[in-house]
Amino acid sequence: MNQTRIPVQNLIKTFSLGTLSLGANRNGTQESLTRMFILKKNGMEYVGQLRVSPDAPVVKIEVFNENYFDEFEQPQSAVLENLTQKVLSKVKKESETPESVKELIKDFTEIRELEDIESEFFEPILQAEERDIDVMFGRLNREYFDDKIKATVKWGRDVKTQNKSGFRYGSYDENKKLIRVHPRLKQDFVPIYVLELTIYHEMCHQFVPPYKKNGSWQSHHPEFKKKEKEYQNFKDARNWEKNNWHKLLLPANEDSEAVKV
Ligand SMILES: [Zn+2]
Repeated sequence: MNQTRIPVQNLIKTFSLGTLSLGANRNGTQESLTRMFILKKNGMEYVGQLRVSPDAPVVKIEVFNENYFDEFEQPQSAVLENLTQKVLSKVKKESETPESVKELIKDFTEIRELEDIESEFFEPILQAEERDIDVMFGRLNREYFDDKIKATVKWGRDVKTQNKSGFRYGSYDENKKLIRVHPRLKQDFVPIYVLELTIYHEMCHQFVPPYKKNGSWQSHHPEFKKKEKEYQNFKDARNWEKNNWHKLLLPANEDSEAVKV
């Protein structure tokens, strides 16, 4: 029932960084390099620079035309992160890049991956207690629905693979009166209000049920949307989803799964 899934194509579209061409190595040594690059995007050209050196920071990337970042809905940090990966992988493949520089790039990339894994490992456990969906359901029911919603709420089961087709925050089964919440929302980096909106959204499905219009069933009709917007943090939650949903495409750590199913 939940239509809040966003096709994975959006991710690719959002992170279409532009056509990248690298300039020559300037002031390069055996241990360091500086490369200018040009990004062509939507008919515009943007200039940037990559520096790799043994001194901190090992990798420094800049785009000199700040308006480059206006092309994206994502925060600048996310764009730079993706751009860094793209530029580094291109430099690493080039035969004229000194071996020691390639080593620096390799170490840099590996450390980053490790940091990601570690933070994912610790985050889910910390807030598991706070993410009591029964308590949330009860409070939302009282505050917004006059305790009229009759449903149970459960964490769904996760799959071990990356979602290819998008991410589904929750679902509502009218026959079973059952709301399922995606277990990846247990993770610490997901704001409580995003989890709440997910539950709230599914509750709205019971409160303002689907109806048939011009021969097809409408779930997210105007009455539904009006009710959905009543949720206090609606805008913040939607904004977060818009900027962060791609982080939910990957499976969470195993520890987060066993908490409550
Ligand atoms: Zn829905």
